[in-house]
Order: sequence, then structure tokens, then C-alpha cells
Amino acid sequence: MSGPASRGTVYRCPVCGAELFVVNGGAGDFDPHCCNTDMLPLRRKARFYVCPICKAEVASFQRVNGKFEPFCCGVPMEPAA
Ligand SMILES: [Zn+2]
Ligand SMILES: [Zn+2]
Repeated sequence: MSGPASRGTVYRCPVCGAELFVVNGGAGDFDPHCCNTDMLPLRRKARFYVCPICKAEVASFQRVNGKFEPFCCGVPMEPAA
């Protein structure tokens, strides 16, 4: 399952369940492997948040039931593209 890496895309290993997500996309042929097999892209995407004050950036890529609200510098972080 190769192709250009798209920012936020989550890949999962069907054997061991390891997950990764793309932090910065690129134009090259991205082909992640684990356990000697292709990792598969998931429909779920990572969500990025940025601090409006210090520009710290975080990403959430697990499914959570609660309301995820990262704070930095005493303010809520803003959704980033
Ligand atoms: Zn694996
Ligand atoms: Zn901050």
C-alpha cells in the first residue's frame, strides 16, 4: 500500500497493531512495513493542534471517547491543518 505520504494519515500493522501517522507529507513513494507486511492506512486521521502563543504543535491519533482539549501556555491549543 504505497503512495505519497499525506499529513495526518494513520497506518496500522495488521499483525501486531503498531500504529504510526504521517507528520509531514511528501511527494515520494511512502511504503511503511511492519512484521514483514504492509502497514494499512486507516480512515481515521491524526488531528493536529497548535499553541497560538508558543507555536508548540501536538497530534492526537488514537480514538478517544472524552473531549480532548490540549492546553499550552494557559490557553487552549487551536486545531491546525
Ligand atoms: Zn507489526
Ligand atoms: Zn504554548
